[in-house]
Amino acid sequence: MKHMTRKATRHVSQNEGLIFEKSSPGKAAWKLPPLDVPEIDASKLLGSAERKDLGNMPEVSEIEIIRHFTRLSTWNYAIDLGMYPLGSCTMKYNPRVNEVVARLEGLANGHPYQPERASQGALRILKTLSECLLEITGMDAITLQPAAGAHGELTGLLMVRAYQESKGTPRKKILIPDSAHGTNPATAAMVGYAVENLKSNSQGMVDIAALSGQMNQDVAALMLTNPNTLGIFEQEIEQIAAILHAKGGLLYMDGANMNALVGKVRPGDFGVDLMHLNLHKTFSTPHGGGGPGSGPVAVKNILGPFLPKPVLITKPDGTLGFEYDRPQSVGRVRAFYGNFGMFVRALAYILANGPDGLRQTTEDAVLNANYIRKGLEGAYDLPYSTPTMHEVVFSDRRQAKKRVKTMDIAKRLIDYGFHPYTTAFPLIVPGALMIEATESESKEELDLFIESMRSIAEEVEEDPQTVLTAPHSTRISRLDETTAARKPVLRWKPAAE
Ligand SMILES: *Cc1c(COP(=O)(O)O)cnc(C)c1O
Repeated sequence: MKHMTRKATRHVSQNEGLIFEKSSPGKAAWKLPPLDVPEIDASKLLGSAERKDLGNMPEVSEIEIIRHFTRLSTWNYAIDLGMYPLGSCTMKYNPRVNEVVARLEGLANGHPYQPERASQGALRILKTLSECLLEITGMDAITLQPAAGAHGELTGLLMVRAYQESKGTPRKKILIPDSAHGTNPATAAMVGYAVENLKSNSQGMVDIAALSGQMNQDVAALMLTNPNTLGIFEQEIEQIAAILHAKGGLLYMDGANMNALVGKVRPGDFGVDLMHLNLHKTFSTPHGGGGPGSGPVAVKNILGPFLPKPVLITKPDGTLGFEYDRPQSVGRVRAFYGNFGMFVRALAYILANGPDGLRQTTEDAVLNANYIRKGLEGAYDLPYSTPTMHEVVFSDRRQAKKRVKTMDIAKRLIDYGFHPYTTAFPLIVPGALMIEATESESKEELDLFIESMRSIAEEVEEDPQTVLTAPHSTRISRLDETTAARKPVLRWKPAAE
């Protein structure tokens, strides 16, 4: 695909998005026969909630409104359109059956204020999901309350603090490797800890000598992502755990990358004391648009007393219910019991796959990432040659000689019909291209991606300007990203008079 210029088509016209400007009085998007029953007095039904003046609602025909929304839907990239290789985010395809199950009337309409005896089915879902996640992680107890990965981190470190306080002092520091996700140091700071940076070695793993040197009675815990954000499994993980435990520290694992481990190894077996999971990454819930997430925290028995309350228990009569009397609990971290719809989806995904299916998912995710790694090795610089798991991180070192940076390559990838990969993260790789295919993609889609990336690398050599000014196929090319994030324009307003 070469430089594309499409100027006057409807897809790039600035006005196509403005349904309000198509409005003309009297147009309607429906046709119905005349009313042949008595008209209802809406004010009697709705009282003061009745809205008589609909303000400036646009008046348009049915075809106009249908085209408007359908066209808007095509302006977004989506996993339903193609690969979404956003490293660290695990943008896997979410089976439609999960959505069907989550919408079953009894599940979708359950209310958290229903009495426990009328909610046994919903509680059974929480219980079964908890058991599955404990089996997968090798941990002893779990809370499903946290609403996201970062929220799970916060919950986990609150528990670390409560645990260390119960031993006499909260301690002062959390150790965090330089390859960590940005949420890790942010979480530690929120809980009131000082963050101490831990350097990686030349293979992209925790430097054991550095860890031994920095570990002392001031350190409450190490927060470690495994596989780390380079996609590298921490091979010395058992030794890392032993170094921490010897001096009373805890090993917290950021489990957002569990899609590389499920069915293969269990963090509970390699020394992890507590960890969060991202149900919306590993266990298939649509995410990325700011929708609800779920970040359960699984712990070893030593941390059980500190779990958020209420805790789901089996009562003496055999029914399920919540226990509120937990004197050492860190308290509630979320209204009610967490994002129930995510639990339904995660459980549907786990049960549909079964143990063998989950293991296959892990193997496919790792295979796909390594297929891409092999396919792109010749075209992009690979800063760490250590074997990688579910994602691979290249750098823009070769392209930077032509002044083309990772962001430019990512923008050009849009013209080839792909969502960009993750740019400029992890921070220990300058100019990072972080790529994660997940298990969802076919060989054909991976080949197309590799071909596109290789073609961009050729363009950088022959015609860097095309890459530097990309994308050329979208309505808007390069946004002022800072202003877009700081001062987003989220709704249409009439042009100022
Ligand atoms: C996504 C991610 C997080 C944060 O999870 P959220 O649900 O976005 O809060 C933390 N750590 C890692 C490694 C991640 O990939």
